[in-house]
Amino acid sequence: MRQSKAFIPTLKESPADAEIASHRLLVRAGFLRRVAAGIYEFLPLGTRVVQRICRVVREEMNRAGAQEVILPIMQPRELWEESGRWAKYGPEMMRLKDRAERDFGLGPTHEEVITDLVRNNVSSWRELPLNLYQIGTKFRDEIRPRFGLLRGREFIMKDAYSFDRDQEGMERSYREMYEAYARVFTRCGCTWRAVEAATGLIGGDVSHEFMVPAAVGEDLIAYCGECDYAANLELAEYMRGEPPRGDGGPMERVHTPDRRTIEEVSGFLGLEPSRFVKCLMFLVEDRPTAVLVPGDREANEGKLGRVLGTDEFRLFNEEDWRRFPQYLQGFVGPVGLEVEETIADLYLRGASGLACGANEVDYHLVGVEEGRDFRPGRFADVTSAREGDACPRCGGALHVEAGIEVGQVFQLGLKYSEAMRCTYDDERGETKPMYMGCYGIGVTRLMAAVIEQHHDERGMMWPLEVAPAALHILPLDYQREGRRAAAEELYARCLERGVEVLLDDREESAGVKFADADLIGIPFRAVIGKAFDADGLIELQARATGERSRMGMEELLSHLEGLVEETGLSGE
Ligand SMILES: [Zn+2]
Repeated sequence: MRQSKAFIPTLKESPADAEIASHRLLVRAGFLRRVAAGIYEFLPLGTRVVQRICRVVREEMNRAGAQEVILPIMQPRELWEESGRWAKYGPEMMRLKDRAERDFGLGPTHEEVITDLVRNNVSSWRELPLNLYQIGTKFRDEIRPRFGLLRGREFIMKDAYSFDRDQEGMERSYREMYEAYARVFTRCGCTWRAVEAATGLIGGDVSHEFMVPAAVGEDLIAYCGECDYAANLELAEYMRGEPPRGDGGPMERVHTPDRRTIEEVSGFLGLEPSRFVKCLMFLVEDRPTAVLVPGDREANEGKLGRVLGTDEFRLFNEEDWRRFPQYLQGFVGPVGLEVEETIADLYLRGASGLACGANEVDYHLVGVEEGRDFRPGRFADVTSAREGDACPRCGGALHVEAGIEVGQVFQLGLKYSEAMRCTYDDERGETKPMYMGCYGIGVTRLMAAVIEQHHDERGMMWPLEVAPAALHILPLDYQREGRRAAAEELYARCLERGVEVLLDDREESAGVKFADADLIGIPFRAVIGKAFDADGLIELQARATGERSRMGMEELLSHLEGLVEETGLSGE
């Protein structure tokens, strides 16, 4: 690709809506443009990166025995009614009508369509296992699209679906996909971590997310420093220490004028925040529910959702406090509280010497004992693990970090095959439902995640395997006869050898060329300047490490060939 003719509209300024590096740099370097909120165009360099990632994904899917198909984006309502997800999916699914007023959805995932395909065309145990995948555009009407490709509304995803005869087969397919995913993310140059995950709207019992640690990640994960336990914070368990114990004395009511927050009251009473019972009021399917957590902990809404068995709940808002005036905001406590359901965190079981709101303005209770003074309806794990908590498996210290979810794998079991009657006949002619798994990789999100892990203040640093080109040729002062001829020769010989290359044949200053090269981030660059005039040497520079070494053209070419063979980064 010749830069003088290539469509690479770089920008000096970052776009106003870009909050994170990948968004900022992809737009500035001319890889990406925004069309509407969460909807982007991929320009030639961006398209090349997408194709590179897809190539890695395809190779690993094919190697694991999956077969590629192309499935429709637009899907009829009837299929989604069968699985029950037409109603469940809510406003995140983009819906539309055709000219005959028939309902369609733009697929956010493809379980229904693929299950329909397989039930209509596979009937014997001999045809299983089967694993089908596609790479295509998905649409999710995000409430708040942001962070460029990290939370877009239209995006490119690889999704695969496995069909097996039994649980064992499903687990084998799951393991194969898990291993394929590990290879994909490693080849794309990411450091990553697989964590236990919740299954959400997709469903099933077992799931792992593949997380790329990055400060801008929207997920928090907890992992053990001593064993291999790792889980999304929505799921991560931790061992509770001994509950607090009081002196067994009676409960007392104390005046706490103008003090409402745990901090204010704990300072006033001289009691550790962990001795407080924070009584959170939630509206659960329109019913008030009290959730009790230690004063120094946060309730985890993911855990709470699973305990409640619904995602239709929220913390009381101003309107709810007005609607239920029996609950005094700032003074709610579990003692004598009239509420249908009370759920307490595990830590509070058997705790005493506690403090809590007295359900009375400006009063708190101290010396409170669980079991004696209040009794929750049930105990459950409803608080988030945090840095330093004890690992549920080995007791080692947990660490918490932010990550970008780039892939997720699910054991679906029989959820879709039973609802949609996707069955096969076994060796004895018995009809049985198929065991399914599904497996997603966010291709365009992965592109952003790679940049979050590989950039500096000057620009991007593409890992070789997913780079838009392997080599950037920078002849300084292109008009100089000898330099231009050398650049052209190197360009032609790279193409002959199948090395993907960008030639900066513009008549720009060295400063402009270097700044653009840093921004675009092609992994290697060949600088043809003074050393070439004097000794015929070209300087090979690595974008990520800044390493540089001078060599003649032949040596440079064989060096590049070696690198490219390793990664298969050749022109197509
Ligand atoms: Zn551990």
